[in-house]
Amino acid sequence: MLSKIHNLEDYAVAYRKSVNEPEKFWATVADSFVWRKKWDQVLDHDFEDYKVEWFKGGKLNITENCLDRHLLSRADKTAIHWVPNNPKEADRVLTYRQLHEEVCKTANMLKAQGVKKGDRVCLYMPMVPELAISVLACARIGAIHSVIFAGFSASALASRIEDAEAKVLLTANAAPRGAKIVPLKEIVNDALSQVSCIEKCIVLKRTDDPVEMKANRDVWWHDAMLTVSNECEAETMDSEDPLFILYTSGSTGKPKGVVHTTGGYMVYTAYTFQNVFQYEENDVYWCTADIGWITGHSYIVYGPLLAGATSVMFEGVPTYPDAGRFWRIVDRLKVNIFYTAPTAIRALMAQGLEYVELYKLDSLKVLGTVGEPINREAWEWYHQHIGKGHCPIVDTWWQTETGGIMISPIAGVLPTKPTYATLPLPGIQPVLLDADGNELEGKGVEGNLCVKYPWPSMLRTTWGDHERCKSTYFSTYKGYYFTGDGCRRDEDGYYRILGRVDDVMNVSGHRLGTAEIENAINMHDAVVESAVVGYPHPIKGQGIYSYVICDPEKLEVTTMEEIKQEISEMVIDKIGKIAKPEWIQIVRGLPKTRSGKIMRRILRKIAAGEFDNFGDTSTLLDPSIVESIKEGARREK
Ligand code: ATP
Ligand code: MG
Repeated sequence: MLSKIHNLEDYAVAYRKSVNEPEKFWATVADSFVWRKKWDQVLDHDFEDYKVEWFKGGKLNITENCLDRHLLSRADKTAIHWVPNNPKEADRVLTYRQLHEEVCKTANMLKAQGVKKGDRVCLYMPMVPELAISVLACARIGAIHSVIFAGFSASALASRIEDAEAKVLLTANAAPRGAKIVPLKEIVNDALSQVSCIEKCIVLKRTDDPVEMKANRDVWWHDAMLTVSNECEAETMDSEDPLFILYTSGSTGKPKGVVHTTGGYMVYTAYTFQNVFQYEENDVYWCTADIGWITGHSYIVYGPLLAGATSVMFEGVPTYPDAGRFWRIVDRLKVNIFYTAPTAIRALMAQGLEYVELYKLDSLKVLGTVGEPINREAWEWYHQHIGKGHCPIVDTWWQTETGGIMISPIAGVLPTKPTYATLPLPGIQPVLLDADGNELEGKGVEGNLCVKYPWPSMLRTTWGDHERCKSTYFSTYKGYYFTGDGCRRDEDGYYRILGRVDDVMNVSGHRLGTAEIENAINMHDAVVESAVVGYPHPIKGQGIYSYVICDPEKLEVTTMEEIKQEISEMVIDKIGKIAKPEWIQIVRGLPKTRSGKIMRRILRKIAAGEFDNFGDTSTLLDPSIVESIKEGARREK
């Protein structure tokens, strides 16, 4: 079994070893997996002309580690417990034995459709078991999966399929999501009219909605599965063979096809899953992310299955049929470990406590958050009302590119601190650099977060464009992986993510993180959510522009001008006069990507008085928000 960290001393020992003898450290972790052939060299790397290889020469198949090896001792244990969008529909439970069989069948189906090792398969599917199954089925036969979140538009889907040059697309006729049904196949038909690489499109019948099928290209999933055998020998893969391509969420620009490979990704996701969440054999674990994001890849599919865990998979949304949905599922399935995003926490917080108080939530042991900096209020609410004050919160900082969690508390082992991701995990060597690339030593410093040594699950390239990978991540600071995030190391040596570097403003020579100002604004009880950006200011260098969503009920009793005044006072009180926003615009919504992140570059443009040329906005959830913000901004100025 994997060596586990149980207390602060274990952490200190593991961390020290991982820095002093990284290759030895990771070789020991890797030893607990099934390899068809052991590696010849643990690590080979070059950060200048970027190349990283882990467990070089090693041969394996990740699905043997996720499935086959559990059949001896966990065959009848639940691997995936699926909860449908509609609470009246029945759950589906797959044991390790059943999951193994389904993966083998689907792998054979893909082969019968012409998929070979190295081919790309795109998946545009609802959060149903078949999604997890087909991810693993691809891995079983050495096809490279590229999951595209089933909320993307036809053009966003088409550009990703094209970039990956995928041969096969897996989809469903429709995807139930909350009270809506998303017509997936219709979107697919539109997307496929824009690309030429797809030979087969395999369509799962998720609902009874009729769809248009194209002869010779489209195949019903259930038909394709009719004659396949349930045995499928796993393909032997090289440790460095690509496992998947995943396009980043696109908050900062054109999405990048991040490539992860097999051996290192396996070792790191398993290690971090078990340690960060302090997973124990019979825990029920639930990550609410969508498999279309890296969180779903690493911590719904691979990490938990590598550990032989029971992983809950949820098709729906947090507020359907009501804002108690998450908590009802937690109670019903006795979930022990719960992992979600700040955006979900804030949405549920805004709905009021009555939806929480109906539930016991006494099975919960560990809570997690990921995706963006969590503001203090949301952290406290999560801690107090969901964790009842006794569940440690792991605020996990990481990225699509990092493959796994990088900086995070280890649940119950490292003391937490609201809004802090705390300390690096073993194997991770974060550094803070100033604008000139000097490492900032000591405590109480702030700079650009970089990593100075490879870890097993780091991205290997961006698909089809290695130069882009080099220039995005390895050229800003020579010899370092640059994360793009700003970060503070406080007096305790704890790390706090300040947001993207682009979001760190320089106001009259003072560096201010947008997250910090947003925290202060959000403390006003009429404020639901806010976003702060900098804009060019003739005297200060940068001025602060804030976009604020207010509770409509509060707006009825207080005027906008009064609320704005109070918000300003709040910021002055919490941070200081220097952080007082120049502009406060009350908005009905923020331009969010489909993964729930704010597209700040749009807000920055609007704040600077530029009302067009917003770049790629295909990942926006609701483009009409942009129009209404533009109108509002015109009125303000
Ligand atoms: P793109 O790179 O295409 O702009 P993205 O950065 O939003 O998209 P992800 O890889 O999903 O895509 O997100 C990683 C980013 O999310 C991090 O760089 C960081 O800014 C933010 N983030 C993730 N987890 C945390 C966390 N716990 N605390 C603070 N920020 C976080
Ligand atoms: Mg990013």
